[in-house]
Amino acid sequence: MTSSATDLIEDLFTRTVERNPGEPEFHQALHEVLESLGPVLVAHPEFADSGVLERLVEPERQIMFRVPWVDDSGRVVVNRGFRVQFNSALGPFKGGLRFHPSVNLSIMKFLGFEQTFKNALTGQGIGGAKGGSDFDPHGRSDAEIMRFCQSFMTELYRHIGADTDVPAGDIGVGGREIGYLFGQYRRITNRHETGVLTGKGLGWGGAEVRTEATGYGAVFFMQEMLSTRSERLEGKTAIISGSGNVAIYAIEKLQQLGARPITASDSTGFVIDEQGIDLELLKEVKERSRERISAYANRRPGARFVASGRVWEVPGQIAIPAATQNELGPDDAAALVKNGVIAVAEGSNMSCTPDAVELFRQAKVLFAPGKAANAGGVAVSALEMAQNAAREHWSFEKSEARLKSIMVDIHSAALQAAERYEHPGDYVVGANSAAFLRVASAMLDQGLV
Ligand code: NDP
Repeated sequence: MTSSATDLIEDLFTRTVERNPGEPEFHQALHEVLESLGPVLVAHPEFADSGVLERLVEPERQIMFRVPWVDDSGRVVVNRGFRVQFNSALGPFKGGLRFHPSVNLSIMKFLGFEQTFKNALTGQGIGGAKGGSDFDPHGRSDAEIMRFCQSFMTELYRHIGADTDVPAGDIGVGGREIGYLFGQYRRITNRHETGVLTGKGLGWGGAEVRTEATGYGAVFFMQEMLSTRSERLEGKTAIISGSGNVAIYAIEKLQQLGARPITASDSTGFVIDEQGIDLELLKEVKERSRERISAYANRRPGARFVASGRVWEVPGQIAIPAATQNELGPDDAAALVKNGVIAVAEGSNMSCTPDAVELFRQAKVLFAPGKAANAGGVAVSALEMAQNAAREHWSFEKSEARLKSIMVDIHSAALQAAERYEHPGDYVVGANSAAFLRVASAMLDQGLV
């Protein structure tokens, strides 16, 4: 890389951090992308000349709003709502809604920035956004969840639309919440506009495979990575974190393809089940009765619940973190490497800290960043939008085949870009470079906006 490209990137990073103080997750995501773009910027000086980078790090629009609602005891609760519309050069803004007490502007901006690149990788014509609230759904009744969703949508509806911005689920937002949000949107606008949200119920505009897409997609990506080293999923022991949407369907696809996932976790601890996770029991505990993960071990002979300790210390050949950002640090990466891990695919966004990623790089562990490995969810959301626009409903088989081919394409786009931009086999550089080229080219074509 030339020193002028390095200087440009360092200068932009320093200025962006200064303009966005107190946003560590956003800074981390920015740094990870910017530091890998040197070779692309040298090959394409036109992007620097037209200020594409400066525009790319500034969201097009950031919305913060009050979400007042009444809990079951009659008490007024006020939460904060967010929608960060990061970049719409490639299509309408698109990205999930997260309901979790940790949600703040930094986390929304990191997720919106990542989403812009992820969505570009899918090749589906969608821009990047993220939203959510610091509302904590744990322990809330269905009626409280509904009242919260209705209040949240009473502001959000002004900013979204099938050709403007199309939210979906993320942590704490699944089929139940999307249903309540859609109901309120329909009521306020008097429009049954299915294209306004994705992740809808199958009976009212939802797409087959959307629920499974992120987990399945991460496993398809893992399969592609392994094949570059003539390795297969069959017989591999898999270490998984989380026990929500992404984790459950990663476990399902791993089992279907002959691997043996043996762990799952939530914020209270993890379970280890050497016989292989009992998927039906996991779904019963987490999807239907919404219990803590320890309930799995209580009902499964031979399984253990570990309240303190790290799931990454459990030996396995492949790993899919699928809970939240920065859940896998350098000590965890060192433990995985020591135990002989050969591939890690991020199911959660920015699962691994930069030090952990560096350790994987040094140990030549195959490593897929979330923006590539977990893009299956948003890719199938884009298929849901296409089906809504055409008033069609595709079969499970057709949708899964499309998901698989999109994941295979993302894998080869990332691998080819890594090769072209001087980092063969490095999926971080490859995914960032390939995605940047798509977004930056569209921005250049569309002039100074
Ligand atoms: P869910 O809410 O369905 O599940 C989240 C899981 O992660 C739960 O087991 C939860 O445990 C655990 N978790 C969440 N926050 C923490 C935390 N701070 N510490 C420990 N455990 C935590 O979310 P999803 O499965 O949808 O999302 C998981 C990850 O995947 C997120 O990073 C999300 O951004 C990413 N992702 C999701 C997509 C989707 O389609 N759903 C698409 C692409 C990425 P607990 O219940 O105890 O909090």
